[in-house]
Amino acid sequence: MLILLSDAFDSGLPDKLKKFGEVTDDKSRVPKAEVILIRSKTKVTKEYIDSAPNLKLVIRGGVGLDNVDLVYAKDKGITVHNTAAASSIAVAELAFTLMIAITNHVAKADKSMHEGKWLKKEMKRTELYQKTLGIIGMGRIGTELAKRAIAFGMTVVAYDPFVKSSDFAEMKSTMKDVFQVSDYISLHLPLTDETKGLINSETLKDFKDGAYLINTGRGKTIVEEDVVEALKSGKLKAFGNDVWYSDPPENTVLTDAPNVIMMPHLGASTNENLLRIGDIIEELIGDYIS
Ligand code: NAD
Repeated sequence: MLILLSDAFDSGLPDKLKKFGEVTDDKSRVPKAEVILIRSKTKVTKEYIDSAPNLKLVIRGGVGLDNVDLVYAKDKGITVHNTAAASSIAVAELAFTLMIAITNHVAKADKSMHEGKWLKKEMKRTELYQKTLGIIGMGRIGTELAKRAIAFGMTVVAYDPFVKSSDFAEMKSTMKDVFQVSDYISLHLPLTDETKGLINSETLKDFKDGAYLINTGRGKTIVEEDVVEALKSGKLKAFGNDVWYSDPPENTVLTDAPNVIMMPHLGASTNENLLRIGDIIEELIGDYIS
């Protein structure tokens, strides 16, 4: 059995998987591979699947499966798994990091110090304490974020059409109800027909003036141009972003917008998460073989 590591994983993973067969990271061997391991970079399209006649199992290290043609894979009898549970803490910690970073001007203050400037009077920080966090998508990551926000003394409200109650947030019946009361909005959504372009000039009107927006879900759930307009008008005070229309982004309008903190899609990239992903992959391949 040939196992192809098509994207970046923990460096110890090939050794862990050797017991199952030959392990390679040589992408020219797609046609021979029976198991292909991907993260977000490899796109398992119809053409990709057609180029892999021996493929039986695709494992996506991470959550989002929007880079896999699930319908075509099913037609071809290919099983697709993700490692959904592994990444929740890593991504929730990044969403929280962005919240803290934008309200404390971490990036701007650091840059100014490196430039020899002393902007003590120009910058006022804002506390998270007693502010309201609105979570859109109250799944695994949203729930981990809510726990952290509660520890900081925040009120947490959330919207998720498939989650009716939560121990960590007051569930609202519409997204507008969340937008209207939240000082911070954090997006934890999969990319679907319903979530694409969800944050746009119309929905932004429902936000509180001067709200903060965080996106560690998927880039295409926001309309970047509309978010930039909201930043320029002050409707949004700042935007913390980890996810893009493409990795890396091409000509994104966000790079020139005011008050944006940008990350190169690092949500899942903790050492601990890569180890957890490796453990789950080992288990899934073991199950597949048996
Ligand atoms: P999850 O499936 O546990 O939670 C997603 C939640 O979104 C679900 O509860 C679902 O009911 C809800 N949802 C779906 N459509 C909705 C809608 N229209 N409105 C409101 N809620 C809706 O997934 P998770 O593990 O919490 O991950 C969430 C997303 O985070 C993933 O789909 C992925 O896109 C993204 N992610 C990003 C990174 C990163 O590196 N930044 C890493 C992992 C996951």
